[in-house]
Amino acid sequence: MKQKQLAIIGSTGSIGVQTLDIISEYPELFRASVLAGGSNVELLEKQAIEHRPDKVVIADESGYERLRDSLSPLGIQVEAGSKAVAEAAVSVDGIDTAVIATVGYSGLEPTLKAIEHGKEIALANKETLVVAGELVTGRLAKSRSTIMPIDSEHSAIYQSLTGETPESIRRLLITASGGPFRKMSLKEMEHVTVKDALAHPNWSMGAKITIDSATMINKAFEIIEARWLFDVPAEKINAVVHPQSIIHSMVEFVDGSIKAQLGLPDMHLPIRYALGCGNRLPSERPGLTIADYASLEFFEPDFERFPLLRLAYHSLEKGGNVACVVNAANEIAVAAFLKGQIPFLGIRGIIEKSLEAIPYIATPSYDDYVATNAETRAYASSLL
Ligand code: NDP
Ligand code: MG
Repeated sequence: MKQKQLAIIGSTGSIGVQTLDIISEYPELFRASVLAGGSNVELLEKQAIEHRPDKVVIADESGYERLRDSLSPLGIQVEAGSKAVAEAAVSVDGIDTAVIATVGYSGLEPTLKAIEHGKEIALANKETLVVAGELVTGRLAKSRSTIMPIDSEHSAIYQSLTGETPESIRRLLITASGGPFRKMSLKEMEHVTVKDALAHPNWSMGAKITIDSATMINKAFEIIEARWLFDVPAEKINAVVHPQSIIHSMVEFVDGSIKAQLGLPDMHLPIRYALGCGNRLPSERPGLTIADYASLEFFEPDFERFPLLRLAYHSLEKGGNVACVVNAANEIAVAAFLKGQIPFLGIRGIIEKSLEAIPYIATPSYDDYVATNAETRAYASSLL
């Protein structure tokens, strides 16, 4: 395999750092040609000195001068601002793959640019498909571009579907750890702290997705993500609580068979699979010792205690800009919870009020999504 040139959008985050681990694991297969981050100048600088990309981009313009002063002498081009981030994967010649690993709405524009330019996409940023799944997959179908999922559940489904036909799918079963509050009553959830919510039992991830896992809106987002990635309707997608996070998801087929993918809760595996475009790259990292798990448990999700799960089905049934509203309101609410401005259970109210307030658009254009996102953020912020 020819060495692939990668642009990592969100290199300073949890997925970005693990992507760079994989690049270091297979230097003959992958090179980080572009690194883009949000505001963590120190880490971005350190990554650039180690990986020697052609270009480094930082969204926060206040970080520009420091990066330019330290990286330009190394022959590394430096740019700043959100437009430069959006174009980072397409503004350098020879990029094969865009790894979209920023958090939230910020993933949409770089993904659309990568599609426009026919790049391979390794997609961690699920919000892209939540916000505008129909638009993104519509454009994808007309381009040379492909999307390999990084999200572990979708990687598991992708692996389980390999060699199967669409007609043979009965159901997608998306596993959920249940998060830190799996056994808590709603009453007990009234008093949880930011620290409690950030203590995920199985996965170490960025703050936003960790809170999304605690409310289980992450699972709602993953149902929406699966609907668009695999073109399977919402009524054929179920969440299953599986506290051990060893089965990363399953597909049930029309003959009654179920295929699953198992592994440790370690994102290096789905990142490696996505970068290898489905080729299995041998790794020395620890794998799953099945005998360590005497039992694997499965439970029906509890929609009463985790009502945000319902938003998956509501958003997909209504379509249009509804999921875009849910995502934007959730981003504002989660940021407010992390800053101590609202209680954990306050997240739901901000999303529900935003859904009532923001006008419905049945067939949004790209500009409509941009406007819906901005309007919802402003409205949700006004509720704090
Ligand atoms: P992190 O919060 O750890 O990292 C987010 C990254 O995005 C950082 O590099 C951050 O930069 C960057 N960033 C944030 N805003 C912007 C912006 N406006 N422009 C450019 N860069 C920006 O998140 P995770 O790595 O945990 O998650 C990334 C995505 O992957 C999310 O969509 C998440 O849902 C998904 N995902 C993550 C998993 C995980 O295990 N972490 C598992 C499955 C999916 P900086 O820090 O420099 O400000
Ligand atoms: Mg996931």
